[in-house]
Amino acid sequence: VPLYSSFEAIYAQHCYIRVRDVFERPIGSCPGATVKLIDRVTNDFCWSFQFTGTQTEVINVGSYNYLGFAEPNGPCAESAAAIIQKYGLSMCGTIQENGNTQIQDNLEKLVANFIGSEEAICFSMGFATNSMNAPCLVDKNCLIVSDQYNHASLILGCRLSGASTKVFKHNDMKSLEKILRDAIAYGNPKTFRPYKKILIVVEGIYSMEGSLSNLPEIIALKKKYKCYLYLDEAHSIGAMGATGRGVVEYWGCNPKDVDIMMGTFTKSFGAAGGYIGGSKEIIAHLRKYSPTGFYSAPMSPPVVQQVIASMSIIMGRDGTRDGEKRIEKLSRNSRYFRRRLKQMGFILYGSDDSPVVPILLYFPTQCGLWGRELLKKKIGVVVVSFPATEMVEARARICLSASHSKEQLDYVLNAIDELGDFSRSKFSQKTHLYK
Ligand code: PMP
Repeated sequence: VPLYSSFEAIYAQHCYIRVRDVFERPIGSCPGATVKLIDRVTNDFCWSFQFTGTQTEVINVGSYNYLGFAEPNGPCAESAAAIIQKYGLSMCGTIQENGNTQIQDNLEKLVANFIGSEEAICFSMGFATNSMNAPCLVDKNCLIVSDQYNHASLILGCRLSGASTKVFKHNDMKSLEKILRDAIAYGNPKTFRPYKKILIVVEGIYSMEGSLSNLPEIIALKKKYKCYLYLDEAHSIGAMGATGRGVVEYWGCNPKDVDIMMGTFTKSFGAAGGYIGGSKEIIAHLRKYSPTGFYSAPMSPPVVQQVIASMSIIMGRDGTRDGEKRIEKLSRNSRYFRRRLKQMGFILYGSDDSPVVPILLYFPTQCGLWGRELLKKKIGVVVVSFPATEMVEARARICLSASHSKEQLDYVLNAIDELGDFSRSKFSQKTHLYK
C-alpha cells in the first residue's frame, strides 16, 4: 500500500480535484475587504492550470480579517515596516541559543494585560501553539475531554500528549458532563486508577460552525468536577466582546477561571503567530518545556510590531476610538448579514453575533457551483465539505470584517440570493432527471 493511501485521502482527492479551481487561488494583494486573485484557466477536469497574466479584484469574504487590520496601508503597516530597519526579518536562530527580541517581550506583557491573565508567552505559529503546548501540560495518565469540532491543531496536540482523549458532542453540556462523571467515578479503565489531571479543551468561536462555546456552563462543570480548562480563542479574540477580549468577555466570565487562554494573531490582528496566557507557574513551565518556544525561532519582528500596534489600537492606547469603532462595525455587519440571509430563507449555523457565517449547502457537489458562480460575480468565498464537515453538511463559509462596507455586503447578499434560486432550480432539475 503506498504511504499516502487511505480512504479519506482518496475521497478527498476526488472531491478536491473537481473543485480545485476555486481552491488555492494565487493571491496578488493584501487580503483586505477586497483581494486581487491571479487569473488562471483550467482544463476540463481541473487537473492543471495556466496563468493568463491578468488579475481580478473580488470582494473578499474568505479571510479572517475580522477587524480590518490586514488592509493595505492600514494604521499598523508603517510601524511594522519601520521595525525591519532595527531588527531585520528574523532572529536567524532558536530562542534557546540566540535569545529573543525586546519587542516580543513587550508583546507578551501586552497580551497578558489585554486578555487578563497573569502572564503570557508568544509563538511564531498558531497551529504549533496548540499542537506543541498541549503535550507539555498533560501526559498518558491524564484525560482530555475535547469538543467534537475542535481544530486540527488541538486534535494533534491531544494525540501527541499521549493522554486518553474522549470527545463530547459539539457544545453539548449533557454529553460533556456524562464523560466527566464517568471519568471521576471509574477512573482510567486501562489502569483502574483515577486520572492524574482532566483537561477540557474547547474553542471560542468554532471556525466551521460559527458557534460560540457555552463558556459559563463549561466553567461551572470544570469547577464541579475539578478539571482544567483550555480555551482556543483563535477566532474570537478581538472579534467578540464589547472591547474585543473574546468569548470570556462576551459571556462575562472571569479570565482566571480559564487555565489556558490560547489565541492566534492570524485573524483579528492581521498578523501571524499564537499566544498562551495563564498563571505565572504555567507560563514559566511552558518557557522551560515548550519545544516550539525553545527549539524554534521567535516571531518575526515586523509581525510582532503589527500585533503590538493593532492590539494597542483595540485597547484604545493610541488615544483614538478607532479600535472601539472597528469592534462595533464588525458586530453590526455580522448581525445585519445574518438577519438578511435568514430572511432569504437560508439555513445558517452559529450564533447571531458571530462574524463566521456558514450557509448550509448540504451536498459536497454544491461547493464547486457556489465557489465558481460567486467568483464570476467577483466575490471570493470559501466553500467547505467532507472531511472538514459532515458528509451532507457542505457549506459556504463567509467571514465578515469591520472593513466591509454596507454596499459590499448588499452586493454579496444579492448575489447569494440569486445563486440560491439558481442552485435550487439546478438541484430540482437533477432530481427530476433521476426519478
Ligand atoms: N486554532 C484554531 C481554532 C484555528 O482555526 C486555527 C487556524 N485557522 C489555528 C488554531 C491555527 O492558527 P494559525 O493559522 O495562526 O497557525
